[in-house]
Amino acid sequence: MNPQLSIIIPIYNEEDTLQELYRRMKAVMDLLVQDGVSAELILVDDGSRDRSLPLMRELHQNDPRVCYLSFARNFGHQIAVTAGLNFSRGQVAVILDADLQDPPELIPRMLDLWRAGYQVVYGQRSARRQEGWFKRFMAFAFYRILRNLADVDIPTDTGDFCLIDRAVINALNAMPERNRYLRGLRSWVGFRQTALVFEREPRFAGSVKYTFRKSFKLAINGLVSFSQVPLRLASYLGLLSAVAAIAMALLVLYWRLFVPHSPVTGFTIILVALFFLGAVQLISIGILGEYVGRIYDQVKGRPLYTLGELNGFGPDDRAQIPRLDPGVDHANRHP
Ligand code: UDP
Ligand code: MG
Repeated sequence: MNPQLSIIIPIYNEEDTLQELYRRMKAVMDLLVQDGVSAELILVDDGSRDRSLPLMRELHQNDPRVCYLSFARNFGHQIAVTAGLNFSRGQVAVILDADLQDPPELIPRMLDLWRAGYQVVYGQRSARRQEGWFKRFMAFAFYRILRNLADVDIPTDTGDFCLIDRAVINALNAMPERNRYLRGLRSWVGFRQTALVFEREPRFAGSVKYTFRKSFKLAINGLVSFSQVPLRLASYLGLLSAVAAIAMALLVLYWRLFVPHSPVTGFTIILVALFFLGAVQLISIGILGEYVGRIYDQVKGRPLYTLGELNGFGPDDRAQIPRLDPGVDHANRHP
């Protein structure tokens, strides 16, 4: 019997939050069972280097509803969620963060919306409490830039906290895309979508795992995956320099013919023009590189992740996963 609901949580060095996370998830799952909804809790260990994995093994042993995957190294949050979706068995899945910034208590309300016919219910943040002004400003600016540039309508201030129907899970699993900007892909698939506004809590414990570098990478990924405007930027910059060049030529001609002592002479103007054009060209090549690099990445066709261990999924499920070597009994490697 497959569970109806899969709850997917990426875990990266979350030893400080896991117990509390399980306590709150358990309360929600017990509540749901009373309504006849069975749930599985899929913890995806994204190559943690602290005690997260042993804790996950322990949770699985005490509660068979908890299953877990463990990556052989850190592959990043988006890939961790992707793996959770690959292995989920429910009719519907909920994705949330391990640090309890996305309150699990909202799941019943999300399920109500799902029963009302929505295939995607995404959490929309009304407030970001206790996050630094810099992060808040960057998030604010980024979501608005993305909204203006992206080909699909990606709602502002939404993260990965969401509920998605099996139809959407299947669509996402079928995507060969390597640069997975999930909140974008989630909008791209379509279906009936609605927002659930909530207040984002501060992190329960531990430090932020999304470093500035990771957040920046994610933002660039989102832009490049969903917009070709940056590519066109090179053409625009080129056109702009051409216009500037013509104006400059006319100006120089005018000075040569009608002004006895020309105001621009010497190296200064030449140097400025040289550096300006050099910058335009390098930036354009850099933008091109972002796209070409992603093509290269995609063409190599490596698997999205490598698994070190998994537990709690039935044997038939595992046989259906092409990414796993069927000769290795992952579930029994660490009894
Ligand atoms: N996370 C992950 N891999 C990473 C970084 C983060 O799986 O490389 C997980 C982390 O354990 C947490 C979620 O992604 O469950 C969100 O991370 P965090 O709370 O640090 O970032 P925020 O989005 O709150 O800034
Ligand atoms: Mg967080």
